[in-house]
Amino acid sequence: MKNTDYRKKTLEVLPHKKGAEHPQWKGEKIKYVALHIWLRNNFKKSGVCEFCKEGGKKTAWANKTGEYKRDITDFIELCYKCHWHYDRENNFKHRYENETKNITTRKDS
Ligand SMILES: [Zn+2]
Repeated sequence: MKNTDYRKKTLEVLPHKKGAEHPQWKGEKIKYVALHIWLRNNFKKSGVCEFCKEGGKKTAWANKTGEYKRDITDFIELCYKCHWHYDRENNFKHRYENETKNITTRKDS
């Protein structure tokens, strides 16, 4: 789909763009949105990234397994920078245990 290609390209060019959507989400999106509403309503974010351990940043919930379980243990709180790497490197499917080696520090965020 052309639209998908465009989005992919946009993600590569503007990786930090807020609200950038992943093309493969089409079917997953509803589930994703519902879960994030659930997360927001039930769990308070600490503001500390669980990967880089930096606090005082904007953070977002990231799913560990790609299964989007309605279970807080299936999520980790990441700053936007780590979250971006997480999504990109893992495409929502890899396991949490494989994460840390994929996270690199970027200075351009
Ligand atoms: Zn981080």
